[in-house]
Amino acid sequence: MTDIRRRTLMLGSATAAAGLLSTAEGMATPSKLPATRTLKGLPDVVVVGAGVFGMWSALCLQEKGAKVVVLDSYGPGNARQTSCDQTRQIRAAYGERDIYSRWSNEAFGLWERRQEEFGRRLLYPNGVVSTNTPAKLLEAQKRIFAQLDIPYEILSQAQLRSRWPQGRYDDVEEAFFEPRAGLVKARESTVAVAEAFLRRGGAIRLAKARLATQAGSRTAGLALSDGSRLDGGTLLFACGPWLPEAVPDIMAGMIQRQRREVFYFGSPAGDPSFHWERFPCFSDHDIAYSMSDIDYGYKIVPTFGTAVPIDPDTDERIVSPYQMDVARRYARQRVPALAGQPVVASAVCVIENSSDMHYIIDRHPELENVWIAGGGSGHAFKMAPRLGEYISDRLLGRADPEQERQLFSLKSHSKIRPYARDI
Ligand SMILES: Cc1cc2nc3c(=O)[nH]c(=O)nc-3n(C[C@H](O)[C@H](O)[C@H](O)COP(=O)(O)OP(=O)(O)OC[C@H]3O[C@@H](n4cnc5c(N)ncnc54)[C@H](O)[C@@H]3O)c2cc1C
Repeated sequence: MTDIRRRTLMLGSATAAAGLLSTAEGMATPSKLPATRTLKGLPDVVVVGAGVFGMWSALCLQEKGAKVVVLDSYGPGNARQTSCDQTRQIRAAYGERDIYSRWSNEAFGLWERRQEEFGRRLLYPNGVVSTNTPAKLLEAQKRIFAQLDIPYEILSQAQLRSRWPQGRYDDVEEAFFEPRAGLVKARESTVAVAEAFLRRGGAIRLAKARLATQAGSRTAGLALSDGSRLDGGTLLFACGPWLPEAVPDIMAGMIQRQRREVFYFGSPAGDPSFHWERFPCFSDHDIAYSMSDIDYGYKIVPTFGTAVPIDPDTDERIVSPYQMDVARRYARQRVPALAGQPVVASAVCVIENSSDMHYIIDRHPELENVWIAGGGSGHAFKMAPRLGEYISDRLLGRADPEQERQLFSLKSHSKIRPYARDI
């Protein structure tokens, strides 16, 4: 098991300095953690997975007094994790799914507070335009926004043209505009959380962990990739698309893993038209959606023809000419001035869907010290600080709201149609 002590994680952005991560000196290797409670009455926790579910849970658990160790096969912000890449959209528009509008509304405030605390800009609220939302969902969305007092506008095609003439809207009759929505920095924020966690004395270790159970036991330990074992404590498996392998007895068949390719189109030199200050993000529902340029290019994410399986460990992350063509088709439709521009960066990510697109956050039905958190289903990044608060409260037994418990429970999910290489 390798300690990430004084290990430098290079950030992708020139605005953020490279971080020097180090654990508190002298922290004991947790080869044996107490399954019972510590002096403060709180359990020690091992978090397996340093994506948004794991890293934010670790930080919040630590802030609430728990002693926390994070294990990850590749480290926080690694290129294979679902939480990778430059940016993610944040918006409260969720159709009828009011719980996520409420959570997202709370997450905005938490992101604002956290970026202050981390001393690093992570939130870019330039507005999101949603087009082609089915009428029934749109009505529900308006009602929920009114209840939560979240501002929105309904914009006609003519209003879109006059407000952002650099876009093309032939296919849009009316759009829902959420002015407070926008972008969060993805990889950079995960690294920022890891740095904060380490500064406060947490430990992050490179190791692949697997659930190790003994016959008849009500608790479980971990088998690590270096051959060692870690027994006791509370174990949180926040392994994203790897959950079916990490906890096969309950997660096999519960997560479908899809390739998702993203393309950054370069703005013309010196042209700020598509930068976040001048142009909003778009949540389109036909072939792709897009996000304005912060410092890396105008991001287009095709959603058409994406039902392609991926192995998150072994597959090459090289984009396909087919998806690049879909991205360029979308550019011609929405941002024609960028259609002829070069793709200046690209990435292949993994989407990990649950059967009903709701998160899975629950205690293992047979092992009382084991918890699962994941099933982000393409919409968990924006919620990260809210998820951290929620998961830490559940693990520490501090809160257990009924609506969330039901929705995120293992038993409310089912096996999902597998791809050839899903587990
Ligand atoms: C292209 C794309 C666009 C998206 N857009 C948005 C968006 O606009 N807005 C939004 O809110 N959300 C969005 N999402 C969803 C969001 O990014 C994910 O829901 C979220 O990042 C999932 O995080 P996670 O922590 O569950 O998983 P991950 O980030 O994958 O983290 C899991 C970690 O666990 C580690 N791990 C796995 N198994 C083991 C093991 N056995 N031992 C040790 N470590 C292990 C891995 O190395 C990995 O680091 C998008 C996702 C994708 C792919």
